[in-house]
Amino acid sequence: MYRIPFNRPCLTGNEQLYLAQAIANGHASGDGAFTKKCHVLLEEIVGVRKALLTTSCTHALEMAALLLDIQPGDEVICPSFTFVSTINAFVLRGATPVFCDIRPDTLNLDERLLEGLITPRTRAILPVHYAGVGCEMDAILEIAKRHGIAVVEDNAHGLLGKYKGKNLGTFGCLATQSFHETKNFTCGEGGALLINDPQYVERAEIIREKGTNRSRFFRGQVDKYTWVDVGSSYLPSDLLAAFLYGQLEAREQIQSKRKRIWEYYHEHLRDWADKAGVRQPIIPDHCEQPYHMYYVLMPSLAERQALIEHLKGRGILSVFHYLPLHLSDMGQKFGGKVGDCPVTEDVSDRLLRLPFYNDLTEEEQAYVVAEIGSFSTSWEDTSRHAYAVNPH
Ligand SMILES: *Cc1c(COP(=O)(O)O)cnc(C)c1O
Repeated sequence: MYRIPFNRPCLTGNEQLYLAQAIANGHASGDGAFTKKCHVLLEEIVGVRKALLTTSCTHALEMAALLLDIQPGDEVICPSFTFVSTINAFVLRGATPVFCDIRPDTLNLDERLLEGLITPRTRAILPVHYAGVGCEMDAILEIAKRHGIAVVEDNAHGLLGKYKGKNLGTFGCLATQSFHETKNFTCGEGGALLINDPQYVERAEIIREKGTNRSRFFRGQVDKYTWVDVGSSYLPSDLLAAFLYGQLEAREQIQSKRKRIWEYYHEHLRDWADKAGVRQPIIPDHCEQPYHMYYVLMPSLAERQALIEHLKGRGILSVFHYLPLHLSDMGQKFGGKVGDCPVTEDVSDRLLRLPFYNDLTEEEQAYVVAEIGSFSTSWEDTSRHAYAVNPH
């Protein structure tokens, strides 16, 4: 047990009250009253045509691959610097992953490399808004449109983030959210599929309901429901939706806490970062971030690992993030090799995420910042010592 863990689930609003209400309602399975409330709220706050809760972001991505009718041999482009689910959902349908490197500033898919990766088999581009900072959507959408390729945003980090004043999740024909415990809003495990292109709405309901037209039946549009398409069980329990609704309703409180935490780190680590050659996050002026995480880029892998150990010894858990997908066991089966995505390979070695959860207090953060500062001192001492014994 760490004195300061990396993440901790937090109650902010009416989560427990709504959970009790969901049980009292007598409807614990999917698509009950709280699921519907979440759908309406998500449609309103993001501005999408249709929102459907799912059991995870992974499952929302699987639904996207089914809706786009991805077939064996189709190619799908995604950043190598992302969570495995972004691409695995498409590989499950037989797609070949094509890994794109990231921009050194935002760590998002580098749109300048896209054109060179497109072939006649490319079916989809999957931008991931890393840390909730928007990808260069103008360029990505222009390229996708010109080649007739679908764009699916993996917006797991980016709920309430904006690119040029427009909400993340509204750019692709489809977008996905995660409500996993490490995300800004959570119900433990959960997700959502956001649909911007209306042609996908009806089939999405069917795929989510085991391939049946159950939703149409409940709306009285058909007199019985039956098996009409492929599908699976992608709808979460209304108990989870009740918990999530409590969190989404309290979004302003949650976001103001996270803004304070992010800004505290950014301000109080500035001098240390300057002295130690550490890079802080870069948020372009045209992006509004939803304060999903705080990371630093250490000068080297060795120093990153040393800082993780240093903090561990003081009861603080800091963690690295994605390993390059093109160099994973699976990535190599698709031909990935060292040097394919140099920025991803470099950043993956040096990135460190600091403790970040809604109830992290300023006192706890002051302790984290002080202990990071003491690492710099001990590291300088070591280098002085090394210099003293070995002047070369
Ligand atoms: C968390 C995450 C996912 C997976 O979300 P689940 O809800 O756990 O399936 C997918 N993509 C990214 C970028 C994530 O951070």
